[in-house]
Amino acid sequence: MGRLLPFTIYHLLFANMNVLVLNCGSSTAKFQLIATDLDQIARDADEHLASGVIERIGGEAIITFSARGSEARRSTAPVRDTRAAVETVIRWVTSADSGIEEVKSVGDIHAVGHRVVHGGERFKQSVLIDEDVLRGIEDCIDLAPLHNPGNIRGIQAAREVFGPGLPQGAVFDTAFHQTLPPHAYLYALPYQWYRRYRVRRYGFHGTSHRYVAYRYRRLRGLAREQTNIITLHLGNGCSAAAIKGGDSLDTSMGMTPLEGLVMGTRSGDIDPAIIDFVGAKEGLSAQEVDLVLNKQSGLLGISGLTNDMRELLDESHESGDRRAGLAVEIFCYRVRKYVGAYLAAAGGADALVFTGGIGENSAEVRKRVCEGLGWMGVELDPAANQATTARREGLISREGSRLAVYVIPTDEELLIARDTVRLIRGVTQRF
Ligand code: AMP
Repeated sequence: MGRLLPFTIYHLLFANMNVLVLNCGSSTAKFQLIATDLDQIARDADEHLASGVIERIGGEAIITFSARGSEARRSTAPVRDTRAAVETVIRWVTSADSGIEEVKSVGDIHAVGHRVVHGGERFKQSVLIDEDVLRGIEDCIDLAPLHNPGNIRGIQAAREVFGPGLPQGAVFDTAFHQTLPPHAYLYALPYQWYRRYRVRRYGFHGTSHRYVAYRYRRLRGLAREQTNIITLHLGNGCSAAAIKGGDSLDTSMGMTPLEGLVMGTRSGDIDPAIIDFVGAKEGLSAQEVDLVLNKQSGLLGISGLTNDMRELLDESHESGDRRAGLAVEIFCYRVRKYVGAYLAAAGGADALVFTGGIGENSAEVRKRVCEGLGWMGVELDPAANQATTARREGLISREGSRLAVYVIPTDEELLIARDTVRLIRGVTQRF
């Protein structure tokens, strides 16, 4: 593979850049096409041109595409591998059928930004991808064997499809949390496990926590250093972060995304002795128990019904399903517990910020998380809480609430596109 070509004057003359944001997993490829540049970033005037997902790569794939402002279209077609998936995306995006005026040919895509799950201790910020960076991402496979290989295939596929001259950025889920101090990232385990194998807390969802922290300070007109908040990313995966002076101080996911809050199918925190105990009872290996902790626990495990919070809320209200109710209660309780812990860890905060599918949409979960937090200064505004759903951004606490509460829809793809453009333009300031 050739080295990244120097960026040409041609690119510097663009009014804005069309950035293809790719999130390639083991058998899925998600994408967004975003038009942005430094000027658009400053004015929050970036444009989402299209998005989509290809699922079940390797067989008869399910393809969902949607262009700005139009209905999603679903189809099926054989998609052999990640490269074929990227080609399928490009074919659609550049076709007259998609109706995307800004992109008529491959040449109208000016950069690719990749979501990369694990950047280990090496990647503390987003980077432009070259051979050395690619090797660095490969070195982190050990820490994220289920995720990084898919991300690498996405990078290689984009190189093959666009050629080595097209700039590609890597934005890491772990990078934002690289500011954690050692007392927050080290486990109380034999220190040589950290030295030998880099066993430590890395944290994930960093792009989301960073994005909502950025939006929060835009909403309040604050500088980065004045950002003292607790961010709650509650989706199918869930994590909390304590952000102090704009930096991540602690976060609930650990060496892997399994630790911390209760999630759709992940257990979050448990006593590690359970693994051996249940393994012996059920005749399961440690790997098999690990699979249960990741795929059959959390909301799904407790309820025995579903990992979907909306369905659980419906079930508990409409049919009075006890275990559905219990799943929601345990979920909210765990979040509340982390809020308390992070307020103590950070020496207080100015706001709580809810994001993610549950955090953005469920007024009930937000209310139940905040219940009992009055003593620490949380006063929800019930009407504002109820009215803030469906990707709306806003304050949901009462005027004068000592700890403000916000809902801020996340947009990790936007941050990936912006970081890619900033890297290309040589902007080094921290965001
Ligand atoms: P995400 O992984 O961020 O897409 O979030 C997915 C989760 O958000 C699922 O558990 C959904 O049930 C949940 N969700 C989406 N809309 C709502 C809603 N209106 N009320 C409760 N949960 C919701």
